[in-house]
Amino acid sequence: MTRGRRRSFLGVSVAMAPRRMNIEGILARLEQVRPSGRGWIARCPAHEDRIPSLSIRECDRKILLHCFAGCTVDSVCTALNVGVRDLFVEPCPAAEAKPHVLRQVEKQIASLRNTLSPRDRRRAVTVVLAD
Ligand SMILES: [Zn+2]
Repeated sequence: MTRGRRRSFLGVSVAMAPRRMNIEGILARLEQVRPSGRGWIARCPAHEDRIPSLSIRECDRKILLHCFAGCTVDSVCTALNVGVRDLFVEPCPAAEAKPHVLRQVEKQIASLRNTLSPRDRRRAVTVVLAD
């Protein structure tokens, strides 16, 4: 029997999560996905969809979702359990302005990353700030 290894995070608890949704991440959450034109078509998760009516397309660093039955992007995102802002492949400039505490945490994480395996190092880190 092998013993599981535990990594110490020096008292900082970090959860690993993909930083931002990419088109593959969206497609993986959908059913009956098939290529259509320059994008894909799939069953809309926001309504009872027998014939796939959700169009998915990547355009201008955004993931475009359109339900031909009339569901809003908000309701589709809610059904997919993603945020509307996750559809922006690149963070918009406004999102770049980070509070001081976040920059401090990122510095700490940068040093913690050095303790990770090369594979884990490439993954993004989600920090939940508790007050
Ligand atoms: Zn729909």
